[in-house]
Amino acid sequence: MFADRLAEVRKNIDAAMKRAGRTDSVEVVAVSKYYPAEAILDAYGCGHRIFGESRVQEAVEKKEILKDLNELELHFIGHLQTNKVKYLGDIFGLIHSVDSERLADELNRYFNKIDRVQDILIQVNIANDPDKSGVTAEEAESLCKAVKNMPNLNLRGLMMIPPLTDDEEKNRKYFTAMKELFDKMSVKNENTMDILSMGMSDDYTIAVEEGSTMVRIGTALFGGR
Ligand SMILES: *Cc1c(COP(=O)(O)O)cnc(C)c1O
Repeated sequence: MFADRLAEVRKNIDAAMKRAGRTDSVEVVAVSKYYPAEAILDAYGCGHRIFGESRVQEAVEKKEILKDLNELELHFIGHLQTNKVKYLGDIFGLIHSVDSERLADELNRYFNKIDRVQDILIQVNIANDPDKSGVTAEEAESLCKAVKNMPNLNLRGLMMIPPLTDDEEKNRKYFTAMKELFDKMSVKNENTMDILSMGMSDDYTIAVEEGSTMVRIGTALFGGR
């Protein structure tokens, strides 16, 4: 079942890439938050490797159950409170949701202590949505500069969650604006940024048309929660 859903998502991504004339690639993060470790195991058995979790404790527990899956790659996609940083360990291949300099500082100090260089994305609240965390586009550039001086953080790119809507087309402008910001910041950073994380179950084809390189998909892969 997971395999069929993933094939469908992949097919839709390929069609969106074609429409946009893109020849690069898009990574799928299967968002397994709220699903048991068995759901990850099943998807792993179908060949999928990258999974997104939004709570530290839940991810740590699943990682322990699944510790024998050598190629399992967990991503942290939820809001991260500074008091949870000490539980992160080395289990996340990528943290998508760095949304303040204070959090970045805390992370840098923690990963220095455990002797790890952690890949991260900066979460941008491009729509200035009061219900969402993330920095403004302007703050993203200053946070990027600050992170460059944090040796235990490796900035790979940007992440965005659009406002809730019942008409995804209305959010297209935010995906476009993110792509522009990403390209501008990439050039300033000697093109070391390579990940633009945007697109979820309801809007990933729009996100891919606008330049997303990583989509985070829960419901469309695992079914309704
Ligand atoms: C839950 C979640 C997703 C997946 O959402 P779906 O609509 O189920 O695909 C993606 N990104 C973030 C940050 C999430 O919290």
